[in-house]
Amino acid sequence: MECSCGGVIIEGKSCYSVSTEQFYFVLEDVPAYQCTRCGKVLFGEDVAEKIQKLVRKIERDSSEIITGKPSVHSYDY
Ligand SMILES: [Zn+2]
Repeated sequence: MECSCGGVIIEGKSCYSVSTEQFYFVLEDVPAYQCTRCGKVLFGEDVAEKIQKLVRKIERDSSEIITGKPSVHSYDY
């Protein structure tokens, strides 16, 4: 396996983070590959797929929270 820069890619662990308006999500110790030359981090296809599924699930769940109407308004007090 070789990076597009021509560097050698080694297997290791990395962390993956996603930040949107609704949430900030970090996964640590994700199996990943890193280029020893440019430092670019690559994820295996299966790992990337699992992360995407997880992110979509969180997005869906968090949008349910955001769109839910609060039963008590702060200005009622
Ligand atoms: Zn590289």
